[in-house]
Amino acid sequence: MARLEFVYDALPGRVVFGVGALERVPAEVAALGAERVLLIAGRHERDVAVSLARSLGSRLVGRLDDVRPHVPADLAAAACDRARALSADLLITLGGGSTTGLGKAIALELGTPILAIPTTYAGSEMTPIWGLTTGDHKSTGRDARVLPRVVVYDPNLTLTLPIRISAASGMNAMAHCVEASYAEGTSPVVTTAAVAGMSTLARALPRLLSTPDDLDVRTELMTAAYLAGCSLGAAGSGLHHKICHVLGGAYDLPHAETHAVILPHAVAFNAPALPEAMDRIATALGVEDPATGLFDLDVALGLPTRLLDIGMAEADLDEAAARIARDVVRNPRPVDIPSLRRLLGDAAVGRRPAARQPQVA
Ligand code: NAD
Repeated sequence: MARLEFVYDALPGRVVFGVGALERVPAEVAALGAERVLLIAGRHERDVAVSLARSLGSRLVGRLDDVRPHVPADLAAAACDRARALSADLLITLGGGSTTGLGKAIALELGTPILAIPTTYAGSEMTPIWGLTTGDHKSTGRDARVLPRVVVYDPNLTLTLPIRISAASGMNAMAHCVEASYAEGTSPVVTTAAVAGMSTLARALPRLLSTPDDLDVRTELMTAAYLAGCSLGAAGSGLHHKICHVLGGAYDLPHAETHAVILPHAVAFNAPALPEAMDRIATALGVEDPATGLFDLDVALGLPTRLLDIGMAEADLDEAAARIARDVVRNPRPVDIPSLRRLLGDAAVGRRPAARQPQVA
């Protein structure tokens, strides 16, 4: 084993997890001492938002339902104005990563605390990472103010998540686990959580296809999403996430599906530089080779494997490779525009990655 050295910043926050946990939100709001709650929930979450709003009574002072992918800066500015005008002292975000992201944009500007209620497996609720899109550029950063104070996980809320979105979102969680397990900021706490997340996802995601209403499966997936978010929040990410952010911000590709398509290729690219990490990932997934295993899991889940099928134009691949090369600071294996272009080319047409070469003793 290589010499072990690490730095681990434990992140604060309270997690309330369980089927029916939504009912505990009013008590959590009271415990935070909040009197002026702004509830952020997109239109898909309207029914749950209506009953949650009722349960908050006079503590609720306003609602926002305009939620859009990748947090456009103008939407964030309008949301900040609203929170300021209402003198909100707590933001409740009910929804997927886009909803959590809008709450984070307000918290970044105003410092308002967040109580997050996730309804997908994106994991943003466990991280101090924010994202904002101006024009065709998505910026991300870390700031302790955006880390939710309380996270309420209720697997009931994911029963309405369509199978395809669930599967793609599960692969988004998988990407957090995979990259956090070898990110610069990784540590034994993170690898333990990330490996548990990967193996839970590999086991539970295929079961979702036949039994999407099974609360045990949904609970396992939400547990994995929690572990994935913790891993990403503590260790950060790398090349894979950078590629997905550039593609999402510049070409408006769907977030979770982009993760599903890119992950096998980003892993194949880094595999030669990370033999120990690859062994750990293969064991967690129960496969011989991580990159081909992840590709085959995408296929088994009926997810797209071609960038060209999710909105990427062949004509934009050169420009995309150059944009990514500009953004990647460090990577276990050196990257340049031609190597990124090859990676994107493989992902564009859904080429199954080659398995890594066996190690010669
Ligand atoms: P999303 O929030 O856009 O949700 C995807 C779709 O699912 C939307 O149409 C939404 O309305 C719908 N939906 C959500 N929950 C539902 C439910 N329970 N039932 C039915 N429909 C439901 O997408 P996402 O993949 O959850 O999040 C993506 C965003 O989150 C991206 O902007 C990404 O950058 C960000 N993100 C940030 C972090 C971080 O740490 N900052 C981590 C992961 C993702």
